[in-house]
Amino acid sequence: MKVRVLGCSGAISSGPVAANDAGGTTALLVDHDIMIDAGTGVAVLTDDELARVDHVFLTHSHLDHIAYLPLMIDAVGDARDAPLIVHASRATLDILQAHIFNNLIWPDFTRIPSPQAPGVRFKALEVGERITLNERTVAALPARHTVPSMGFAVSSETACLAFSGDTTTNPAFWAAISALPGLRHVIVETAFPDAQIKLAHAAHHYCPSLIADDVRGVEMKAELLISHLKPPHGAQILDELRAALPGVSLRALRSGEVLIL
Ligand SMILES: [Zn+2]
Ligand SMILES: [Zn+2]
Repeated sequence: MKVRVLGCSGAISSGPVAANDAGGTTALLVDHDIMIDAGTGVAVLTDDELARVDHVFLTHSHLDHIAYLPLMIDAVGDARDAPLIVHASRATLDILQAHIFNNLIWPDFTRIPSPQAPGVRFKALEVGERITLNERTVAALPARHTVPSMGFAVSSETACLAFSGDTTTNPAFWAAISALPGLRHVIVETAFPDAQIKLAHAAHHYCPSLIADDVRGVEMKAELLISHLKPPHGAQILDELRAALPGVSLRALRSGEVLIL
């Protein structure tokens, strides 16, 4: 199983690449056919690569995680003979239907070109549920954000990667992933430096001290890959994380890198 990082920045930015505070927003491509979140990082895919995506799993409805979904459904329509399947919580799907695919912001592709053969089908997913697609399993994990949100664990037969999605203090996530066999990488967001802890609380994101509170006491053998760094604070956030989590292997996730599992 291959996980290609299409985008992992906390905002669109051409800024320094020292951390992941440059590049597009969150999108991961698992092999050629499963996408996790559809932020602006999707822009790096060719037309052919876009058309080969069969499933999109969404952590939540915020624009930096769904920006390219409406556009890609439209773009690949002629090249595909089956609808794109979007997996997300019932709450997230309802938000997308009401606020994006409402025939005002964008056509309702759940009903066109026809209700029998639409461009997209929505499939509701609950935390704790697992979906197996050709020997890869995607499991929904708990997250705590300003809107309904979830993380995901993606497993091959031998190894596993966990992704926090957007979240603030979330011991349930760390408890859930500590039980995952073969866990090799944990992609975890850290949007803000500690100086902005009030903003982290208000926006329901992590800052380094909040992650340290959650990770302390958890036996963490997997590597932490830090995502969603808000430009221009990437380097500072990483320094604070290393100081707060001595002995834990961590680094910035980078747009364009490929993780082999
Ligand atoms: Zn968010
Ligand atoms: Zn976000």
